[in-house]
Amino acid sequence: MSLGNTSHPPVKHCADRVNARYIHGRPDSELVPSRYALRVGEIDVLIVSDGVLSLPGAMLGHNVDPAVRAAWLEDMFLPPDVLEWALNVVVVRSGGRTILIDAGMGMEFPDLPRAGKLAQRLKAAGIDPVSVTDVVLTHMHMDHCGGLLADGVKERLRPDLRVHVAAAEAEFWESPDFSRVSMPPGFPDALRRTGKRFLKEYHSQLRTFENEYEVAPGVVVQRTGGHTPGHSVVRLASGGDRLTFAGDAVFQVGFEHPDWYNGFEHDPEEAARVRVGLLRELAANRESLVATHLSFPSVCHVAVDGDVFRWVPGPWEY
Ligand SMILES: [Zn+2]
Repeated sequence: MSLGNTSHPPVKHCADRVNARYIHGRPDSELVPSRYALRVGEIDVLIVSDGVLSLPGAMLGHNVDPAVRAAWLEDMFLPPDVLEWALNVVVVRSGGRTILIDAGMGMEFPDLPRAGKLAQRLKAAGIDPVSVTDVVLTHMHMDHCGGLLADGVKERLRPDLRVHVAAAEAEFWESPDFSRVSMPPGFPDALRRTGKRFLKEYHSQLRTFENEYEVAPGVVVQRTGGHTPGHSVVRLASGGDRLTFAGDAVFQVGFEHPDWYNGFEHDPEEAARVRVGLLRELAANRESLVATHLSFPSVCHVAVDGDVFRWVPGPWEY
């Protein structure tokens, strides 16, 4: 098979360019895959890519000497200035319920045009929005709830949809504190605007929980705090299998440098404590990890490596 590439596009845009070439006349097909299915015991899990966020490299550790950060990026074969973050969303089916965990970016920030593909990719995966019974939000940053605010989405969801979010998260976005973050210009205002709009538009569907809630058999959402006050992770357990969706508790650099403060963390010290605690637990019980911004499809294990951790990617199963 030839892709007919005579030039060599920059690696970071390769997937978009190959897909654009392939989907010409075939709107539902993409050559570079955007979904990955697996099972956790009796629970069906589908990881869906909402696309990619292009963000300044400094976001991965704003408490670190820029030269140290640059050396890490170099070691990882990554460019020094712009980091491409995966944006993973998960669909879980258990006990007759279909649960969307996070909803991607939507159209909330025009400078991030490579994200916001959830609606088209759910369609390509054969998932009708009306079949979704529950949404779980790990937190209310716009790259996690914005997909529910995209044009035409709410009208296609069922009226009795339940949107589960920690009570502390809903409360936080009434009057959010951005004093400890280190975000690019424009982001705090866009995040505030999106959080407020989400609370308003989905007010009647919100089902808040304090610390933990079982959404469906074996699907438990647990508040961690840290990244945001109501940040939560989702624990899946069935038939001896376990998988945790960590939302934004873990980033790629967080295995090797769990104490690096991500620019989007509202309480960086607590976020680092949450990260270390979660990684230790996942390493000890050997369960699978999936996280929003780990490279798609992000299914991996965690190993302890001295004082820090090692990322062990899972094999793709065909
Ligand atoms: Zn995020």
